[in-house]
Amino acid sequence: MVGTHEHHFTSELALNDAAPGVFLLWSAAMMSAMTIPVDKLLNLDRMRVELLPYDDRLERRELDQIQWLVVHCTELPDMAGARQLGEKILYPDSRTGNSGHFYVDRDGSIFQWVSLDRVAHHVSGFNRPSIGVELVNRGRFPNWWDTTSQQMTQPYPEEQVEAFLGLLDALCAALPGLGFIAGHEDLDRRMVTSTDNPNARVQRKMDPGPLFPWDLVLQRTRLRRNIPQDQPGPPAAQI
Ligand SMILES: [Zn+2]
Repeated sequence: MVGTHEHHFTSELALNDAAPGVFLLWSAAMMSAMTIPVDKLLNLDRMRVELLPYDDRLERRELDQIQWLVVHCTELPDMAGARQLGEKILYPDSRTGNSGHFYVDRDGSIFQWVSLDRVAHHVSGFNRPSIGVELVNRGRFPNWWDTTSQQMTQPYPEEQVEAFLGLLDALCAALPGLGFIAGHEDLDRRMVTSTDNPNARVQRKMDPGPLFPWDLVLQRTRLRRNIPQDQPGPPAAQI
């Protein structure tokens, strides 16, 4: 009780007696303390923040709205190709495109391309409550929807999986509302006509695919894998 009273007393004194300049400095420090956490709260040694040019044009959201983490793979050979695709403007009205929030390379380096308080376009119908994490992996590249390339054969290296788990830990610590994890393939079950046979249909999304180590990941995180039944098929305007 004494401590509480003392603290209260000190705060009042600081507010009443500080010169206006000091108060302004204090306000500025508080303001940056309030805005910094969005990206600095993760505090990962191996993460580089390289926001996409349209980050600030993406819809804003509150951090406590985030409940899902969606696992993707890029289905491209490397990070440079993924960045090129991420920067591409696909929605002329907002001048934004499709991308995840985070990208994890095969060697374990992590990049953040979209702020957590921005809604990224990475999964049709689930963008607002989710974080998109992309692992670099060829997937079905380059003939994604050919009937002959419907196997995901490239493994996820240990370094990449460990970095992904580290990112997961940091996100779980920073975002208490985050409770579920799902693969893109769990959330988008639509089929499309294949590109090499007009009579055949293939899965629109297969990432992260059968080689993603779900058992290990679910042992190491508090997040629960949640595969919604009865997926509504939103219009194919977004990924
Ligand atoms: Zn995906």
